[in-house]
Amino acid sequence: MPRIFSGIQPSGELHIGNYLGAVKNWVALQHEHPSFFCIVNYHAITQAFTPAELRRRTREMAVSLLASGLDPARCVVFVQSEVPEHTELAWLFNPLTPVGELERQVQYKEKSAKQEQVMAGILNYPILQAADILLYHADIVPVGEDQVQHLELSRVIARNFNARFSPDAPYFPEPQPRLTPTRRIVGLDGQAKMSKSIGNTIGLLETPEQMWDKLRPAVTDPSRQRKSDPGEPERCPVIYQLHRAFSPAPVVAEVEENCRGARWGCMDCKKVLHQHMAAELTPIRERAEALQARPAEVDALLADGAARARAVAKDTIAAVRGKMGLDAAH
Ligand code: SF4
Repeated sequence: MPRIFSGIQPSGELHIGNYLGAVKNWVALQHEHPSFFCIVNYHAITQAFTPAELRRRTREMAVSLLASGLDPARCVVFVQSEVPEHTELAWLFNPLTPVGELERQVQYKEKSAKQEQVMAGILNYPILQAADILLYHADIVPVGEDQVQHLELSRVIARNFNARFSPDAPYFPEPQPRLTPTRRIVGLDGQAKMSKSIGNTIGLLETPEQMWDKLRPAVTDPSRQRKSDPGEPERCPVIYQLHRAFSPAPVVAEVEENCRGARWGCMDCKKVLHQHMAAELTPIRERAEALQARPAEVDALLADGAARARAVAKDTIAAVRGKMGLDAAH
């Protein structure tokens, strides 16, 4: 059965863009594949951070993931820094990674262009990502389009390792991307991708009242100045996409009909959306509140996840050390 690995930065509580673009898909995949889902806090330290904030955000992300439906009985959920083999394998991959490949990564160019002094972590980030994936021999990596290039580099590293240290029987698989079905969630401003730093998001754990306060002013099809103006759902970047994500198919069909036929005003349409969002997200918020009230349970779940991840990671590191001749002391 192909194995899955995916990671998410500890950005604190999830927003609905993260949920629809990644986590909802993970929740489905955990029923189909052996899966490892990792909160990648080693990656987070390549950007500006404070220790207290990083600790808080890591914890909030863990609660959000568990509340969203990642079930430790079905998949492995863990924090990257609890499995130090990630950084060991990343170091072992350094001699197999051409610097030119790292320098041509679009994300490296974008991130380094914004910094006065470029730190090595930004350049080496994809090596750690390759280690994350290959440590678990993952065959499939659910990713957004912006991560496809990094995954290509993971395949280059796997190929280079196999060619040099395991020529007779490839040790590492060449992991393939699986693009997430909901690829780009537009933010409430209708302009940019939903992002916490832009402030155009709805938090996954917000109350129905807070959600409504954000939905009410969200932009819609600009041609609908009055309720009697027919609209075009495809020109409604925020509300229509959220209907397609949260509302059942017959409701989406009703939205299309009533928008084009000017039978619903945008406020009517938003109220229907709000009902369906609240129906899906309220149980998640309630689970999160229950987990927040029982921190020892979250600790235990994360410790168990790290132990299960580490059991696999240790075997990989032992094999890699052996193949690279780093086991002379044993
Ligand atoms: Fe958007 Fe609904 Fe208004 Fe149509 S009726 S423009 S889909 S909010």
